[in-house]
Amino acid sequence: QLSEGAGLLSRDSGFREAVASSDALTIESSLRTLQARLKLDRAFLVSIDGAIIGAPDLSETEAAALWSVLDSGAGDGVLRLGVVPYQAVAEPVMAPHLTGWVVFADRLDRTEMKSLEQLASISLNATVLSRPGGGAWRSTDPGEKPDPRLVGFVEDAGTGVRPLDTDQGQALALAHPLKVMGETSLAVLVLRYPLQLALAPYYRLTLVLALVALAGLGVLIAGSWLLARSITRPVSALDLAAGRLRDGEDAHVEPATRDEIGRLAESFNAMASGIRDREGRIAAMALTDQETQLPNRRALEASIARSGPEGLFIVAFGVDRFLQLRAAVGYRLAATVLQRLAGRLGELAPDVICARLSSDRLVMMFRAGGPNEALLRTSRLLKGLSRPVRIQDLIIEVGLTAGLALVDDPHPAPPVERASIALDQARAAHSPVALFDADAYGDPGSRLLLMSEMLEALESGAITLAYQPKHDTRAGRISGVEALIRWNHPVRGFVSPGMFVTLAEETGLIRVLTRWTLERALIDQKGFRKSGHDLPVSVNLSGRMLGESDFADEAIAMIQRAEGRICLEITEAAVIENPEKALGIIDRLRQAGIAISIDDYGSGPSSLAYLKRIHADELKIDKAFVMSLDRNGRDALLVKSTIDLGHSLGLRIVAEGVETAEALAILTGMGCDLAQGYFIARPMPASQLLVFLDEAEDRAKGRDEASRKAAG
Ligand code: C2E
Ligand code: CA
Ligand code: CA
Repeated sequence: QLSEGAGLLSRDSGFREAVASSDALTIESSLRTLQARLKLDRAFLVSIDGAIIGAPDLSETEAAALWSVLDSGAGDGVLRLGVVPYQAVAEPVMAPHLTGWVVFADRLDRTEMKSLEQLASISLNATVLSRPGGGAWRSTDPGEKPDPRLVGFVEDAGTGVRPLDTDQGQALALAHPLKVMGETSLAVLVLRYPLQLALAPYYRLTLVLALVALAGLGVLIAGSWLLARSITRPVSALDLAAGRLRDGEDAHVEPATRDEIGRLAESFNAMASGIRDREGRIAAMALTDQETQLPNRRALEASIARSGPEGLFIVAFGVDRFLQLRAAVGYRLAATVLQRLAGRLGELAPDVICARLSSDRLVMMFRAGGPNEALLRTSRLLKGLSRPVRIQDLIIEVGLTAGLALVDDPHPAPPVERASIALDQARAAHSPVALFDADAYGDPGSRLLLMSEMLEALESGAITLAYQPKHDTRAGRISGVEALIRWNHPVRGFVSPGMFVTLAEETGLIRVLTRWTLERALIDQKGFRKSGHDLPVSVNLSGRMLGESDFADEAIAMIQRAEGRICLEITEAAVIENPEKALGIIDRLRQAGIAISIDDYGSGPSSLAYLKRIHADELKIDKAFVMSLDRNGRDALLVKSTIDLGHSLGLRIVAEGVETAEALAILTGMGCDLAQGYFIARPMPASQLLVFLDEAEDRAKGRDEASRKAAG
């Protein structure tokens, strides 16, 4: 605009003429006209001779400086007039030679800067710093001195947009050197853009971003929580159910989802129900007898524990001769018999559980007012049960024995066991039913201990043999002795042989005991012989030994080795138990020169048939008859007829339990061969027996002499 205006004026012919003719008035008015029209700050003419028209304020030195600038050819740029910087244009006036320059200038002040600032679409801050002739920096901004930071920014020769500290904070700034009229001057346009403004749009963006991030975080947290819940809830439900399963409770989880966890829940349910089924089967098996499918002892004991003990009785039913039955019909049918009997019991007493106790035993429970009522009820049940059992075409006769036990009993054995023991006691007493008898049973623990102590006692010498003399009624002298076992227990004192011999029979130690007794008797007999008393020794033989064939060989060998004279005392009952075998063994013993005596005759089961078949040498009438001989006429009669019976069978007769002189006299009168009993002598140790025998010998000699004298 400046350049156009100046060019127009400099080429105007009227103006050129006025310049050529130095018509100051015309020049002046032309300049003012155009200045006004173009709203210029300054418009003046510098003539070639250095005169200035239209700028009276310039000093002569300023004018001279200006002239030399124009003369050097500068056409436009920042021009300083006085202290004020201008944007100036100089156009030469040719008429036709160079006659001067038209100079149009606009002040580079705040107003100018404002219009510049408005050109930009952003709020820029424009300032021009100028330094005329290397002096101090001046600013277009108001104020004496420009900001030193701004000056520093300009002097620092950096290019491009750089950060700048200002009073309003940091700004982005650009320093742009302006073309200058006059070489020694400098002018720089500085554009500043406050960082705060520059960043203002980003604050919102940041805020939006922060909000978005926050919202995103919220969504993330909510999502994670939901996801975790969807996983942890079913998993903790599974965990809970697994805990219940472990505690044996019912465990089922509802599969909430169709994913892996849902499938896991389904597998868990399948597993849990599998375990339940198997547990049920195992529990059922544990409470069932597999052969008969009847409840077993454990099942009955559980139901005893559930019922209160008041008035509760347990009954054990045993099938008599079950082993023989099973051998005859086989295991399967024998079990079927038990099943049938259980069925009958169920009909007879519908309200009770019937269980299988062992192979041949059933057991049940019922309540009764007392032992008598219980025994009566059991007898009735026995009657109902003891009918033949028909299986297919087979009719099987069954005999039953029952044992009864009261649950509420201080005895340490469990009630079912007591009922079973009572059953054994009933059988031993040949009675159809028996109530558990604690006294008869004793204490099995201490009896077992006794057996282990017995073995020690045999070695240590606590067990010895006592000898009881046998008196020959006709010869009036001792013609034999019976060996009787004695155990002097350090704690229990005298232990009855009847008791521990029975125990040894039950625990299988009888063989050891028998061997020891025989050995001892043979040794003692040798001792008696050395002392001049050659007597047969009677040794009691347990019925059990008659069931073992190799025992006979062993006994025969022992006796023959010792050249002993031994009589073995056996009972009829032992023979009746297993007659074929026992009779065979007896015959073998007799053939080997061993005498056989039938002991306790009359007290046990007796049979003339067996008496005839046992090839014995001697018969011992049981002391029960002999002891009451002098008081009881019937017993005397029985003894007398037994003596006659024995004699007619060729047997020597011994009466045991002879306690009085009268008894001995009666027996002698009856023709009894030998007498044994406290009246003659009590059983005594071997050493004592020798003394006794010597004295008896002396007495007999004395008697003989007296009678010879009487006869002579
Ligand atoms: P047992 O064979 O009948 O023996 C006779 C029992 O009657 C002995 O009792 C004896 O001490 C006792 N006695 C003898 N004279 C009289 C008398 O005048 N009056 C009374 N009241 N009793 C008399 P002990 O010694 O207690 O023996 C009991 C049973 O033990 C014996 O009865 C016998 O069966 C068995 N026993 C004893 N020793 C042995 C043995 O070494 N082996 C075997 N297997 N059994 C034996
Ligand atoms: Ca005897
Ligand atoms: Ca006897």
